[in-house]
Amino acid sequence: MRKMNLHYKSTRNSNLKAAASEAVLKGLAPDGGLFVPERIPALDIPMDKLKDMSYQETAYEVMKLFLTDFTEEELKDCIGRAYDSKFDTEEIAPLTKVDDTYYLELFHGSTIAFKDMALSILPYLMTTAAKKNNVENEIVILAATSGDTGKAAMAGFADVEGTRIIVFYPKNGVSRVQELQMVTQKGKNVDVVAIHGNFDNAQSGVKEMFENEELAGKLAENGYQFSSANSINIGRLIPQVVYYVYAYAKLLEGEELSEGEKINVVVPTGNFGNILAAYYARQMGVPIDHLVCASNENKVLFDFFRTGTYDRNRDFVLTTSPSMDILISSNLERLIYLVTGEDSEQTAAFMSELKSGGSYTLTEEMKEKLKDFKAGYATQEQTSRQIRHIWDGTGYVLDTHTAVASYVCDEYRKTSGDSGKCLIVSTASPFKFVKSVMTSIDSKYGEEDEFRLLEELKKVSGVEMPRAIADILDADVLHRTECDADKMEVTVKEILNIQ
Ligand SMILES: *Cc1c(COP(=O)(O)O)cnc(C)c1O
Repeated sequence: MRKMNLHYKSTRNSNLKAAASEAVLKGLAPDGGLFVPERIPALDIPMDKLKDMSYQETAYEVMKLFLTDFTEEELKDCIGRAYDSKFDTEEIAPLTKVDDTYYLELFHGSTIAFKDMALSILPYLMTTAAKKNNVENEIVILAATSGDTGKAAMAGFADVEGTRIIVFYPKNGVSRVQELQMVTQKGKNVDVVAIHGNFDNAQSGVKEMFENEELAGKLAENGYQFSSANSINIGRLIPQVVYYVYAYAKLLEGEELSEGEKINVVVPTGNFGNILAAYYARQMGVPIDHLVCASNENKVLFDFFRTGTYDRNRDFVLTTSPSMDILISSNLERLIYLVTGEDSEQTAAFMSELKSGGSYTLTEEMKEKLKDFKAGYATQEQTSRQIRHIWDGTGYVLDTHTAVASYVCDEYRKTSGDSGKCLIVSTASPFKFVKSVMTSIDSKYGEEDEFRLLEELKKVSGVEMPRAIADILDADVLHRTECDADKMEVTVKEILNIQ
């Protein structure tokens, strides 16, 4: 069979075409839009075969359909380097059945959160893409993080030849464990900067640098070029499609589902990357019924799915699920592009309204196309009670992000009457958010030191302390740079030593 080449276009300009490797390399389209595949490919192998495949084999079957200008050898090499013993289980993304619900555990990689699923492969996709496109500049990864991306990106890129990485995080917006994970990261090509601002400030600052042509020129003069490891890069989105295919196949293999049986997927959502990957998996042919978008108190997406209006004009709340404390969900733009009927002018207009006035409203016709999405949210109180409730009933300990989804899943079942099976995406290990988790289990832990609580969590959960945590306990702090939110560009120039 002849291999069809799949091209990528920008959500803000349908005429712009790029090969997959170019899209991976650039991260963001030159017009500020996001790269999207010109069509979502269908799986070309039956579930019956996927059932027996390893994670790595499944990854190849999915990724080859999207990254059509990578050779089989290149892709398999990237996959092999990414999904290896960095993960603490050969299954890579194991499923745990708790009562009648399945938890897809995406936290078995080197930083114990789901960002590892994509960020352990992105550096290899990117350096392979650079070679294919004869890029000789050093690639500078700029990333804004609400906590998990930063560490996962640093771990992924550390000492990968031909790359540098600079990560910005909100100084008071990440957990103690998250911060320590970042500031202790080794690697001679790694820098991390705490900004005096929130995640949206960090993300906007990074986006502005990407769009700054003058800065791009200066970088080029010095042998550098930017790329993005943020979840807007299709090189992150595509590897995330894999685990939905894998999870469905494994549920079939374990006879938890019958052939073709539909399943609901509940995803704790921030930047809308993870749930969008579930949507892509569904479009590829995975029998997913509803996609349930779970938010915390920053419930922009909940309101959006209910009303059709995306409105970021509201107070930003720092919650116990910080990786979901987001008011601008960048990846939503890809869904907007689809519901506008791939109308890049309309998409660009919405995004410009979002930038200037902070909101936009879909037409009724567009809203109708979102009906497969359901949405819910959990307050911090509800999240905390859910952790306690699941632990009490089953002994299984959820992290705060997963608990948001777990609560929303229960509510969804109650209010919709939908009796379909549910897959909850578990995005972090409880060890990563130990303080909030332990005080949910018992308020007596409120006074205790976060590091002592790790031992307690080990006891109450019966789960071994992950290596990622054990490693930071006695590691040296290597990074101390801080800056104001409006000084990010200056800081980057200093780090790269350019004027
Ligand atoms: C990033 C993250 C999320 C949100 O995922 P998105 O793809 O940004 O929607 C949820 N939970 C955890 C633990 C995360 O790190």
